[in-house]
Amino acid sequence: MSFVVAIDGPAGAGKGTITKLVGEKLNLVNVDTGATFRCVALNMLKENVGMDEEDKIRSILEKINIEMYPDGKIFLNGEDVTKRIRENDVNDFVSPVSTIKIVRDKLLEIQRKIAEGKNVIMEGRDIGTTVFPNADVKIYLDATPEERARRRVLQNKEKGIETSYEEVLENIKDRDYRDSNREIAPLRKAEDAIYIDSSEMTIEEVVDKVIDIIKMTRI
Ligand code: C5P
Repeated sequence: MSFVVAIDGPAGAGKGTITKLVGEKLNLVNVDTGATFRCVALNMLKENVGMDEEDKIRSILEKINIEMYPDGKIFLNGEDVTKRIRENDVNDFVSPVSTIKIVRDKLLEIQRKIAEGKNVIMEGRDIGTTVFPNADVKIYLDATPEERARRRVLQNKEKGIETSYEEVLENIKDRDYRDSNREIAPLRKAEDAIYIDSSEMTIEEVVDKVIDIIKMTRI
């Protein structure tokens, strides 16, 4: 039996940071599902495959190999793409790519397989609604777009990626809109998810709150 904690929410709400820290403290395997969509988007960019080229997308999906390591490193078909998948061209392309049905179907299968038999904390947009509708704990993590953009610029800087506040804010708003309005598995709070607005909270406060919620559920 596996134990699943689902963390959903919009871009830059702190899901990655919180998932990593809570996972380490509670010994849960950390799964970043956004990275799997980013890998498909990057693969399509590299092979010059457009949104409507279904046969080529299918062939990419048949061959794709995504590896995620506990230190946060992501490998796509054997290549370390940890930094590459956070760059602007991928940021702009990933949301449209995530609307493609065959992409979502394939990644759903991969995401469920990753969690098989493990205790996981999985972050994304549709974990509590679609990937694991019976997750043991569901959290919806939110913050204002401005706060999310501010955090993302700082985070990028730490990773050595220079981005401007304006372009990040625009990308975040654009992705929020697309992710919430797409047909398949749109971003929304599961009815039974606990809502946390982290705009005015420190990372430690959010981590403590999430851990409290998980511990309450586990008893
Ligand atoms: O979490 P991150 O910002 O890296 O996700 C990148 C994109 O992947 C999102 O904007 C969204 O379009 C897509 N995504 C998704 N479903 C998930 C995780 C990410 O559609 N579970």
